[in-house]
Amino acid sequence: MKRESRLVRWIWWTVVVTALFLLGFCIGWFSKRSKATANNHKTSSKYLVEFLDEMRPDLIRDHLRKFTRLPHLAGTEQNLKYAEEIMKEWRDFGLDSVEMVPYDILLSYPNKSQPNYISIVDHSGKEVFNTSLAEPVPQGYEDVSNIVPPYSAYSPKGHPEGDLVYVNYGRTEDFLQLEREMNISVTGKIVIVRYGKIFRGNKVKNAMSAGAKGVIMFSDPADYWATGVKPYPDGWNLPGGGAQRGNVLNLNGAGDPLTPGYPAKEYTYRLNPEEGVGLPKIPVHPIGFHDATHLLKNMGGQIPPNNWKGALNVSYKTGPGFTGDFKSQKVRMNIYSNNQVSRIYNVIGKIRGALEPDRYVILGGHRDAWVFGGIDPMSGAAVVHETVRSAGKLLKRGWRPRRTVVFASWDAEEFGLLGSTEWAEDNARLLQERAVAYINADSAIEGMYTLRVDCTPSLHTLVYDLTKQISSPEDGEEGVSLYESWHKRDNWTNDRDAPRISKLGSGSDFEAYFIRLGIAAGRARYTKNKKTERYSSYPVYHSVYETFEIVERFYDPTFRRLRAVAQVRGGLIFLLADSQVLPLDANEYADSLRKYADSIAHLAQTHAELMKTYNVSFESLFSAVKNFTNAAKDFHERLQTLDKEDPLQVRIMNDQLMYLERAFIDPLGLPGRPFYRLTLFILG
Ligand SMILES: [Zn+2]
Repeated sequence: MKRESRLVRWIWWTVVVTALFLLGFCIGWFSKRSKATANNHKTSSKYLVEFLDEMRPDLIRDHLRKFTRLPHLAGTEQNLKYAEEIMKEWRDFGLDSVEMVPYDILLSYPNKSQPNYISIVDHSGKEVFNTSLAEPVPQGYEDVSNIVPPYSAYSPKGHPEGDLVYVNYGRTEDFLQLEREMNISVTGKIVIVRYGKIFRGNKVKNAMSAGAKGVIMFSDPADYWATGVKPYPDGWNLPGGGAQRGNVLNLNGAGDPLTPGYPAKEYTYRLNPEEGVGLPKIPVHPIGFHDATHLLKNMGGQIPPNNWKGALNVSYKTGPGFTGDFKSQKVRMNIYSNNQVSRIYNVIGKIRGALEPDRYVILGGHRDAWVFGGIDPMSGAAVVHETVRSAGKLLKRGWRPRRTVVFASWDAEEFGLLGSTEWAEDNARLLQERAVAYINADSAIEGMYTLRVDCTPSLHTLVYDLTKQISSPEDGEEGVSLYESWHKRDNWTNDRDAPRISKLGSGSDFEAYFIRLGIAAGRARYTKNKKTERYSSYPVYHSVYETFEIVERFYDPTFRRLRAVAQVRGGLIFLLADSQVLPLDANEYADSLRKYADSIAHLAQTHAELMKTYNVSFESLFSAVKNFTNAAKDFHERLQTLDKEDPLQVRIMNDQLMYLERAFIDPLGLPGRPFYRLTLFILG
């Protein structure tokens, strides 16, 4: 009896002690964890403020100065030197790893001993006028070698000779108008087309389909001249001797023309150079408006409609051919450029994520430039450089993002987004499983007016929240947020009182990530006032006049606009990498889907008869949008009650957010364009 009661007491005692221990353990465990979560959140926002404050205008200026002294075209020694310098500095800034990733891709250069030019020849074949072989070099750069003259990259060699036809912007509608309304055929002719409105590669494609045997492209002051502004160096307008370089491919997202779909490594199968994807079959060459005046002034044929007339002092007659005394003269193109497989180098830097190293947030922008790249791309590269430096500072203070951050300095963007696309092809399997978002960092400034953001709808809310935490860079706006400054200058529309954010189009390095892989993506830069400044991109685009000085003297003398862009791009990366729950918004996505559906239906109303004939109905489209909207609302409600202490639950919700963009991928791509798979935005 006594022994039994002692045993019972002993058992009781053990149970009570164990229970108390477990209770204490549980209290300790949970209170510690919830405190840790709250603390993490606080430290993360403290670090965000430090990260943004660390970025300095004077250092952005230094980076830009340093990387714009010499021409650094893709595939040249100087562009490799800049890559090596960037690699070294990113290591010094404190990234966990930085590597150089090479690819061997098809590039195109003019022949150094036989320059490209266009001539007017008389009946005996004698050249009576030749276009200039180079742009007048800006002051201070007279001794610089390796300035590539204006050329159309990937133009085949050739010497087509014949009559000129003026085809306006070379859009589909321009060729149709020429053929149907003006009864002019361009078959066997050389077309002269003004830059602007559409991508130059599409102008060449349209000219080829119409039967032309050569294409001359020129920058018209109507499209590349701001009123009241002097030409460079006294202002930021394009001088008459300046011309726009650029590739004339039709890659549709294929990357290197010889290795579509696969990374251009030493082991990769290559197409024959003649079979390369998207290569033009007729010679193409760009000229400035001084030379264009000579070619256009004696043209005969019809006087075109007013919207075909630019701002030169010529009649813009369509041709074909010259008029009056000049009737017997022809135009001859002399193109000697070569395509060649060359080595390019991406620089890839990483910060390993502390909790989710297998989730990637990418900030990428190109480094290669046509010449100095003062605006395109180095204003963007300088901003990335400062972002990396600031992130390195945080790392030294003990910060480490939740997810992995990847910084990329892409090569050969100007030759068709090649460096970024090859890396995407190289890492496609990992990226489609693990990439959270891609932020692009091309030119950071193209005007002096306000912020411009193009992004996927799921990033809208994040962009608004972030820009409220950044200061306006404008004089006289001390204490005003970037959001307010932007909102005041570019309000969205009547139906929404917020700064305008546009859809992400194509034409820079985000393409492979967004349109092929379906990774949420966005871009931000400083821009012009679209309502009053009607010129295309910016006047000196892709000319030798894109210098450091044009940025320092005109676009951003205090470098505060570039800092604001750095803070937007960097802040997006920071919040995407460090927030516990991904700051992506499915409700915004639903809202945009409804707007797109509305606008398509609206457009269809103008063809009501045809809709009836072909029995087209939008019912299922609107029903799908409704279902998506409900699912998105439901998801965000569940997110409100998410147990943030449960890492598995957090990961589940985050994965759903990460894969939201992937849901719009059609694995087969658009008909005939297998690399354009994000159907929604390509069609939209
Ligand atoms: Zn660029």
